[in-house]
Amino acid sequence: MTELTNELLFDRARRVLPGGVNSPVRSFRSVGGTPYFVSHGEGAHVWDVEGRRYIDYVMSYGPAILGHANPAVVDAIAAAAGDGTSYGAPTLREIEMAEELCDRVPGLEMVRLVSSGTEATMSAIRLARGVTGRDRILKFAGHYHGHADALLAAGGSGVANQGLSGCDGVPAGAVADTIVAPWNVIPELDDSIAVVVLEPVPANMGLVPPRQGFLQELRDACTRHGVLLMFDEVITGFRLTRGGATEWSGITPDIWCFGKVIGGGLPVGAYGASREIMSFVAPLGGVYQAGTLSGNPLAMAAGLAQLRRLTDGAYEQLEATATLLADGLRSAFAGAGLAAVVPRVGPLVGLFFADRQPLDFDEAQAAADNGVYPQFFHGMLDRGVALAPGAYEVLFPSLAHTDALIDTTVEIAAEVAAELVAGA
Ligand SMILES: *Cc1c(COP(=O)(O)O)cnc(C)c1O
Repeated sequence: MTELTNELLFDRARRVLPGGVNSPVRSFRSVGGTPYFVSHGEGAHVWDVEGRRYIDYVMSYGPAILGHANPAVVDAIAAAAGDGTSYGAPTLREIEMAEELCDRVPGLEMVRLVSSGTEATMSAIRLARGVTGRDRILKFAGHYHGHADALLAAGGSGVANQGLSGCDGVPAGAVADTIVAPWNVIPELDDSIAVVVLEPVPANMGLVPPRQGFLQELRDACTRHGVLLMFDEVITGFRLTRGGATEWSGITPDIWCFGKVIGGGLPVGAYGASREIMSFVAPLGGVYQAGTLSGNPLAMAAGLAQLRRLTDGAYEQLEATATLLADGLRSAFAGAGLAAVVPRVGPLVGLFFADRQPLDFDEAQAAADNGVYPQFFHGMLDRGVALAPGAYEVLFPSLAHTDALIDTTVEIAAEVAAELVAGA
């Protein structure tokens, strides 16, 4: 039997998968080198096929908020699987999931469950257009809302780190009604616009929080012009707080999108709103949207098991862990004399190798593309800490990241930072 190596698997993968991966940012294209192929994960760690262990801050880009292979989630999936994996008929768990989401988010009264964040935002845009009878939508540069045609323009995350300004294969007509506005500036609105969509705490261009008062001003501007406000909470939902960005900000949007955390690592998304707005969705209304695997029993079981563990105490722990990490990284960089800012919002931690916190996508790009991140990334990876292989992502500390693991991470970061400064 030949040994599995990352190199061998990458060669094999590239023959049958574009770039060797099923999502571009995983390819290491923006940091260089060979991706590690994961054999398994447990708690805060993943192991690659060569047996190397990493403290993981990718955490599936958010879903693994309890840590990898949490026993409650694994058991729930196993138990559900024994009863069949999909029926094409409604089930109790879908009601329980919808109730759980509505219970947590003030103003959210009904949801439609789908199979990914992309599907949620895509469907929610259709809903907003159906409700208002207006075609145009407005998004902010650097915000990522999945890969639906109308929302790809000036996207963050992988769209940004693959060096794409837009996307080939998207017809001009598909984005003709998409307006892209700079983040943290109140855009001009009028009655041709159906919806303003945003990440309430943007985490796909690094972490670039809204400036003080911005969300309230945006809420007011939307209300004034009859424009719906949509929070894409695929990252922030049930991560920032028990009630997500709505509870965190005190601002209530008209439509919400969720994903990542609510699936416990299985493919899930959801969009929701008031009962009045959701009554436009088929079969109640004329906005059609469907899915063979929507509300999938395994995904519901995993998501419910995960959400039920996300108590107020869990959010306090997540925030304390993130604070320890952010404070530790800041002092590590300061000690080494490496210019860096480490923004933190609740349990989300960002990282820019820059002199000051970026306030919009242009500033985030300047900070992300200065060449420091790939060196830092590889320094960390070589020493057993896995960050996302792209400067536009954030760190996702989980409930499995102990203080000792955070301390280890910070010590390693100090070592790598010193090495970068010495080599510069
Ligand atoms: C990840 C993400 C999406 C897309 O979700 P997928 O499940 O990858 O389709 C949409 N919006 C935001 C804010 C995200 O972070």
